[in-house]
Amino acid sequence: MANPFQIAQAQLDEAAKALDLPSDVHEFLREPMAELWVRIPVRMDSGQVKTFQGFRIQYNWSRGPCKGGIRFHPEETVDTVRALSAWMTWKTAVMDLPLGGGKGGVICDPKSLSQAELERLSRGYMRAVARFIGPEIDVPAPDVYTTPQIMAWMMDEYEAMEMRHRPGIITGKPVHLGGSEGRGDATARGGMYALREAAKVLRLDLSTSNAAIQGYGNAGSHAHHLITELFGTRVVAVSDSKGAIYDPNGLSPVDVAEYKQRTGRLSGFPGAKEISNEELLTLDVDVLIPSALENVITEKNACDVKAKIIAELANGPTTPEADHLLFKNNVYVIPDFLCNAGGVTVSYYEQVQNASNDRWKEAEVYARLDEAMTRAFHSVNEMREKHRAHTRLAAYLIAVDRVAKASVDRGWVGKR
Ligand code: GLU
Repeated sequence: MANPFQIAQAQLDEAAKALDLPSDVHEFLREPMAELWVRIPVRMDSGQVKTFQGFRIQYNWSRGPCKGGIRFHPEETVDTVRALSAWMTWKTAVMDLPLGGGKGGVICDPKSLSQAELERLSRGYMRAVARFIGPEIDVPAPDVYTTPQIMAWMMDEYEAMEMRHRPGIITGKPVHLGGSEGRGDATARGGMYALREAAKVLRLDLSTSNAAIQGYGNAGSHAHHLITELFGTRVVAVSDSKGAIYDPNGLSPVDVAEYKQRTGRLSGFPGAKEISNEELLTLDVDVLIPSALENVITEKNACDVKAKIIAELANGPTTPEADHLLFKNNVYVIPDFLCNAGGVTVSYYEQVQNASNDRWKEAEVYARLDEAMTRAFHSVNEMREKHRAHTRLAAYLIAVDRVAKASVDRGWVGKR
């Protein structure tokens, strides 16, 4: 089962069954509430116009305005965006943020676009979805291959249409343009707070542990820095889309980041052995941090995973079949929509600051994020112990129950 939306639905089905959810509520929660498909014509540097396909999907807004990032990816599909919008719904619910879930995507290869083309595409996307979103309706943010700079162009485009300041239209902006302190590494930082709590549960000493990180984008590269800085964990392997590097003595986050910045890749990093992404996932490490794309831990490799904790910074890295195998093998999975919720949590803080025209200090953001992640982690862990369920199901039980309650209490679904 490789279709991410079918996976998201199967995960919901398992939770609906365990919660004994009425069938009309379950049926309602299985599909997005609204979808917008847009065609975005972009004049390329050559003078030719190329039309891109984009989506914005609002999965559920019973608990508040929809919230979720925009991905620019050559393999984007409507079903990936649907799945990601569902996971955003469970993510904001498990964190108990007053938000719903949404997601956007554009089928494109940002690596082959010039800066000017990327700007025109970003502005074109915003023009195309502007009528569908808004600070009190649906608020986008960065995701795979979208950056604070892209958020700034999109905000500017929206404000030009609205003819007034509207920083709350989008989050993940540069700090000097209304972004929040601490948003840049928030996804990884939130994941580290959750990892710290999981290690306490398992009585694992992170300062003498080692870790492997798959993916070196915003989440993975910051995780490398933070796990080293906060816990002194030795990171023995990291990877990007082109391959993985391994050094049993540990990889310095500063040196690796500098090398990647300079060469655009990880392979060839001095002193490290080159391994495949597949080998990285089954290395003999204590902590495995998938930080790239979906469906990397499957029934094919789940039994070979040696890590004690999997901290899922990516969205959807583990298939349902793999979840059951990992549970059987006593691997503690911190599920994606809990583990990577730091990003949307600080996005929410950004919304609050924008709405009150205020700015919070970095230390305040970190303290609030720590408190929010720790609370959400333990509510999921308690549910896991109570139901002897795998952690993803435990997280689903909390999230789905909250979204179902909101949808019923609004009178949308449920028996009278
Ligand atoms: N794209 C991020 C996620 O998947 C952040 C979403 C947001 O900040 O709204 O959680």
